[in-house]
Amino acid sequence: MLEISKLSAGYGPGRQVLRDVSLRAQQGALVSVVGANGAGKSTLLGAIFGFVSRCTGRVDLAGTALLGRNTHAIAEAGVRMVPENRGTLVSLSVMENLQLGGLGLPKAEIAARIERQLERFPRLKERLHQRAGMLSGGEQQMLAISRALMAAPKLLLLDEPSQGLAPVVVEQIFELLAQLRGSDMTILLVEQDVGLSLEISDYAYVIEKGCVTREGTGASLLEDPHVQEAFLGVS
Ligand code: ATP
Repeated sequence: MLEISKLSAGYGPGRQVLRDVSLRAQQGALVSVVGANGAGKSTLLGAIFGFVSRCTGRVDLAGTALLGRNTHAIAEAGVRMVPENRGTLVSLSVMENLQLGGLGLPKAEIAARIERQLERFPRLKERLHQRAGMLSGGEQQMLAISRALMAAPKLLLLDEPSQGLAPVVVEQIFELLAQLRGSDMTILLVEQDVGLSLEISDYAYVIEKGCVTREGTGASLLEDPHVQEAFLGVS
């Protein structure tokens, strides 16, 4: 389980972004953090993954304290992040990107995990030997996610997977995310597309100006009048 308590984070004096954020994500759950532009969602993921140095509070994954560790140690503890820009290595092939995702594992294990990823993402199988830079935005997002899954993480952090993608592609990506629910892996999804995120989430938090202002099951937040008015265009 991921347990965050009273996390405050920022970028320097007068640049405090998160204030006393507390949240939990059970093992195997898909939990979303939704909110407007600039609310602090990426800062939250950065703080969990060791990118934000000015943090106080606690971030524990399965009983291991993550806050204050560097990104390498956090990755060793079983965390992977798919950043907003996806982070695929565009000059390498799809295969090479996937191999990198399994770095450190025995060769046979890497091959077996790549097979599993290609079953999950058949589009990548067709493009296995193409450079990642030649893929469409949606395919690159799939590659970024499958590369992260190669490590069989305990916690997968996803930053705005819908960013820059056509609505039909976003729906495909979210369907894939929904299929990843219920495994051993916990997913923390940060998104501006509030409606879609809530639809696939077991539980969700609304973050406004760096603070958690609402929480509940995805279904209950979809019915919440404040969420509807502020994020879903219902008046
Ligand atoms: P978006 O959906 O636009 O990415 P967000 O909710 O993820 O928004 P953050 O990216 O966490 O929000 O940004 C929150 C605030 O922190 C913003 O005011 C932003 O300008 C500031 N900020 C983000 N990254 C940095 C940084 N590296 N240095 C200084 N300020 C930053």
